[in-house]
Amino acid sequence: YDDRDGKIWMDGTLVDWRAAKVHILSHALHYASSVFEGERCYNGKIFKSRQHSERMLRSGKFIDFDIPYTIDEIEAAKQAALDANGLKDAYVRAVAWRGAGEDMGVASSRNPVHMAVAVWEWGNYYGDAKTKGAKLDIAKWKRPSPECAPSQAKAAGLYMIATMSKHAAEAKGCSDAMMYDYRGYIAEATGANIFFVKNGEVHTPTPDAFLNGITRQTVIGMLRDKGITVIERHIMPEELDGFEQCWLTGTAAEVTPVGQIGEKKFEVGKLVTDLAADYEKLVRA
Ligand code: PMP
Repeated sequence: YDDRDGKIWMDGTLVDWRAAKVHILSHALHYASSVFEGERCYNGKIFKSRQHSERMLRSGKFIDFDIPYTIDEIEAAKQAALDANGLKDAYVRAVAWRGAGEDMGVASSRNPVHMAVAVWEWGNYYGDAKTKGAKLDIAKWKRPSPECAPSQAKAAGLYMIATMSKHAAEAKGCSDAMMYDYRGYIAEATGANIFFVKNGEVHTPTPDAFLNGITRQTVIGMLRDKGITVIERHIMPEELDGFEQCWLTGTAAEVTPVGQIGEKKFEVGKLVTDLAADYEKLVRA
């Protein structure tokens, strides 16, 4: 992704894509002092843009830094990046991190916080699984307790276990991994939330040890508006067998049906295909 034409918004200016670099002694590279957002722009409008910007500021606070921009400035930065690259349908990656500076130890409060926004065209995160249904592995890594990590932050450090889990899944021919939380409840995938259907009702894990995704919240609202019961609760792995349909939600994943988790198979049924179509309509409305 580094060798492309285009512009990246970085610390207030638009720089050439290939020149958007950081110093090797950036604190973030050594100690994961970085937070980010993943957003999608549809027909020239970023879906729930302000909510994403707000979450990014919140994520920064969770890991002890203030991003030196206001919501309005972040909104303008995202628009500037889209305009500079002439994109109306794009994935938007905003990132903020502790740079290099006075500190090289664990503490970093004297190092400046930087921010950048890159945008590019990105199709469905799971490729043809979007229609066929994704196959998920079950990760050996568990989502940490909120006492061990700030679960609600979209912070780079939390993705170490996600990357390892996804690598292991891909090595087995799966699209992604479903992760348990520290108690052994079903949590989510490595970068998307999870939902199940049983007897026409929707069940989804309580987001008390993982990111309560903006897509997740949107989809829960859409289902309830249609009169479908959505139950947020702790879900045990033994319950998988009793579920009929399953899907993932996320900005990148949108609504992606799941066809298999481990040995358990799910139908790509009407509820999930309708929901995926409704979501597509909503984000483009
Ligand atoms: N969980 C994790 C770990 C994620 O990385 C994402 C993607 N941001 C999500 C859930 C879904 O969040 P959202 O719907 O806000 O994109």
